[in-house]
Amino acid sequence: MKIFHCQNCNNPLYFENTQCLVCGTLLGYKEDSLQLISISTSDNGYTFFSPDGTIYKYCKNHQYDVCNWLLKTDATSQFCTACSLNRTIPNLSDANNLKEWRKLELAKHRLVYGLLRLSLPLIDKEAAPHEGLAFDFLSENSNTTDKKPVRTGHMNGLITINVAEADSVHREYMRKEMAEPYRTLIGHFRHEVGHYYWERLISGQDETLEGFRGLFGDERSDYGQALHQHYQNGAPANWNQHFISKYAASHPWEDWAETWAHYLHLVDMLETAFYFSLETGANFLSSPLKMKADFDPYQEPNFEVILKAFRPLTYAINSLNRSMGQQDIYPFVIPDPVIEKLRFVHQLVHGQKM
Ligand SMILES: [Zn+2]
Ligand SMILES: [Zn+2]
Ligand SMILES: [Zn+2]
Repeated sequence: MKIFHCQNCNNPLYFENTQCLVCGTLLGYKEDSLQLISISTSDNGYTFFSPDGTIYKYCKNHQYDVCNWLLKTDATSQFCTACSLNRTIPNLSDANNLKEWRKLELAKHRLVYGLLRLSLPLIDKEAAPHEGLAFDFLSENSNTTDKKPVRTGHMNGLITINVAEADSVHREYMRKEMAEPYRTLIGHFRHEVGHYYWERLISGQDETLEGFRGLFGDERSDYGQALHQHYQNGAPANWNQHFISKYAASHPWEDWAETWAHYLHLVDMLETAFYFSLETGANFLSSPLKMKADFDPYQEPNFEVILKAFRPLTYAINSLNRSMGQQDIYPFVIPDPVIEKLRFVHQLVHGQKM
């Protein structure tokens, strides 16, 4: 993620900031230029004048403090690109839901930022029911019609997120239940959207599908049975030699979604490192700890460059976490077959021949 600066006082800002904490100026995110712009004049409510004279307004969800994105004042939609993908939001008459929704939106806006940076198609399901993407944020208590538990998942472009996942206690409980080393909201979003892009970019594309099956296996094997077996028996003992996670070993579709999510983690972390000009192992002539984040990973066509920088970076950030007595922020080891799968994702999103 990019690091932003206040146009008024140069204070560094986070992507989610709606106000500069130093000079108090109001801020809005302009997605076409990846900028947080400062307000220069305000009349009816919030009106942002960008340096080029264009007038912007906040996305309608700004009123709930869940979005800081801007729209042109003459835009037909009241919602930004990220918020217009919402089909169902939590029931806001419950104050706790608003709190949890904020966390979900924070993760979802970061997801959408990354997808836009990769120039991936982002189609609103309301406008294009067959190809589009939409989100349902559901709580088990709001799901009174069928009393079924809410399952986080993807179906034909509709991503359902269980609002309970926004609660860190619940999430940690689930992480332990599922024996996962890593469980986050952004991880859920990146995984589920991977299923969506499998349908958009691979399904029905003969050559790509063949490449996919060569690396991930044949997705036509019984999905329901594969998941059942995974939950009954767990992953095979040698899963870590072939997969990024135990769950990835359950079925080629889950392997794909886990690998896709991992690729998005990887480029996001490297972009953050890039904006901080991070460098590790600079005093070593040659070392596996040496890296320099001097490239934009979203624009980098060569996967080797990404891979070479990523490994030392994860070693460095894990070491920093250990210094603070925290668990490894990056609790993964990438075996060679997963490198090939990540390369496949990279080539696909960059439109390269595979
Ligand atoms: Zn400021
Ligand atoms: Zn919005
Ligand atoms: Zn999945």
